Amino acid sequence: MKVIDKSDFDVFVDNLIANDDREVVGVQEKDSKFAFETLQSADDLRLDYDVTILPPKKYFMPQRETLIEYNLDEGETTPVNRVVPRIILGIHPYDLVAIEQMDKVFEDTHEDPHYLEKRRKSVLVGVNMENVSDKSFAKTMGTATTDSGYDIMLTDIGDMYTIEVGSSKGSALLDKAGSAIDDVGPEEIKKVKQFKEELSEKFRTDPKFDPFELPSLLKEYYGKDQFWEKNSEDCLSCGTCNLVCPTCYCFDVQDINDISLSEGERMRTWDGCMLEAFAEVAGDENFREEKAARYRHRYMRKGRYMYNRFGDIACVGCGRCSEQCLPDIADPVDIFNQMKEGTS
Ligand code: SF4
Ligand code: SF4
Repeated sequence: MKVIDKSDFDVFVDNLIANDDREVVGVQEKDSKFAFETLQSADDLRLDYDVTILPPKKYFMPQRETLIEYNLDEGETTPVNRVVPRIILGIHPYDLVAIEQMDKVFEDTHEDPHYLEKRRKSVLVGVNMENVSDKSFAKTMGTATTDSGYDIMLTDIGDMYTIEVGSSKGSALLDKAGSAIDDVGPEEIKKVKQFKEELSEKFRTDPKFDPFELPSLLKEYYGKDQFWEKNSEDCLSCGTCNLVCPTCYCFDVQDINDISLSEGERMRTWDGCMLEAFAEVAGDENFREEKAARYRHRYMRKGRYMYNRFGDIACVGCGRCSEQCLPDIADPVDIFNQMKEGTS
């Protein structure tokens, strides 16, 4: 473990912004909320945020992305993969765990170069949480801290950050800070331990379930239609809970023709299982026409299907879905607690 003074860290970040070929992005405050955006100055970086509106997955899986450009007159198709190498500053542990899950999804079966190239060209700088969102239950999901998934990880211990190096990419980045980096001493190690103990007190105390009970609880609840109908009654099918989730990765692909109908591009855009048209197929059929079926599916994906496929519970407890759902019915803790209590 290493340490750097906060003032030296700011100089380091400003140097990266000015001199590194890669785009430097970090968490910034916007209208009393937080978002990952391109950084213009270290002064704008907020490593004390609680949660961002969108997770950093937007850099590896943009909301809209061109896959192919085509010209029908010429009979030409050109593959497109616009990769911007980035240094991403200030990723919380739960989002790092979510990125590790996404990596498995996009490497599985058929490697997805659009996601993977962006991931390979990014450096992930994590930060341990100083402030915790009211909705977060990351401690319950085992994602309040992490030992993997980052290139370097920062912990705020007052006048300085401690730094853990997780990869050769992280080590190369740190070399750019030169003599500002020092070896850690016993006093700083004590402060990190204290930081983590205090962090563990900052999370919600209402979750009553263990995450690894979820696959069997969800299996038991799959056929309880009344339960899903009652809980989804106020759902607007807006899809927000999917779109803000760091572990949701579904997308739609469409060909967009220009007005001459000879040229166009194949685009992929975010999609989500809570949207009514998500499971629509040819012949005007819809596999999940009822909102209760869509609502149930989202929870099955989070707590059962992804576990069966990869051994991961695909909810990292960030709390974004419950924070942003207008009728306030998307809180996984509420549903999982009800199942644990045997509510029908
Ligand atoms: S649960 Fe909430 S956020 Fe999700 S689709 Fe329904 S209304 Fe929208
Ligand atoms: S389901 Fe909700 S709490 Fe869980 S990871 Fe997704 S957005 Fe976060």
